[in-house]
Amino acid sequence: MYHADPADEGEPSSGFFYFYSFPIIIVSVLLFSCQPGRQKVKAVQPVIAKDSSKPAVKKSQVVAKEKPKKKKKKIYLTFDDGPNKGTKNVLDIVQQEDIPVTFFIVGEHVFASIGQTQVWDSLKMSKNIELCNHSYTHALHNKFEKFYEQPDTVVKDMQKTKEKLLPGNDIVRTPGRNSWRIDSLHFTDIKKSKTAIDSLQQAGFVVFGWDLEWHYDHKTLALKNTADELLNQIDSLFNHDKTKTKDNMVILAHDQVYQKSSDSSQLRDLIQKLKKKDDYELALASSYPGIVKERIDSLKVVSTQ
Ligand SMILES: [Zn+2]
Repeated sequence: MYHADPADEGEPSSGFFYFYSFPIIIVSVLLFSCQPGRQKVKAVQPVIAKDSSKPAVKKSQVVAKEKPKKKKKKIYLTFDDGPNKGTKNVLDIVQQEDIPVTFFIVGEHVFASIGQTQVWDSLKMSKNIELCNHSYTHALHNKFEKFYEQPDTVVKDMQKTKEKLLPGNDIVRTPGRNSWRIDSLHFTDIKKSKTAIDSLQQAGFVVFGWDLEWHYDHKTLALKNTADELLNQIDSLFNHDKTKTKDNMVILAHDQVYQKSSDSSQLRDLIQKLKKKDDYELALASSYPGIVKERIDSLKVVSTQ
């Protein structure tokens, strides 16, 4: 009689092996066939076979199927009449938001106080900022009709700011007048000023007007429209092709409006919303269509000094 010694470590007899191993093999086979890993491989295999039956797609074909990049509409944010009490706020916001902005400077304002001279120095040191000419006296201190009756006075007033502050810069904005002289783009809002503005172009200046103004109350200096209202106006002007140059829009704002936090927060709101719009791109005045490259080069020297 066979006696299985539990302490025996030798080879088991064939009878012992058959008796104990058979159920283990059965269980093992069952377990093996039920392993989730195996099932996964079986499930993946037909997918691989299906994919491999498709013709290989070349990288170049993928690129060809991509939509061509849509050309963005350009928006030129411009601020007039600085340096003044609102300029530093505007500069801080546009630098924090990291956007290009053009300031049209009144020469006399640079020397009106130590604080304003310091703001002028900050403007010159700032990157992505362009400084252009908005005359020296702002039309003899807002005496617009008298100013534009004298073309020589208008040219001399612009030349004074150019010589004292902006030697490489020919881009000007006429005080109180929305007029344009860029290559073949000619426009004069008040016809009495036409001769004076023509004389600016003859003297070598580029006259840069605007398509849309962010209006304010001249007594309280408060904005008349919210950022959202201005955004709607921007969308509408583009959609109806109401800008001087298609897909390019110049926006006029005034520094002094943004000295109060309620108005400066609207400016930040507008900028942040414009940055989120995929169709739009912010740009400097010198990149406007028709402004010649020589002027862009000279402006870069001025704005990064
Ligand atoms: Zn002005």
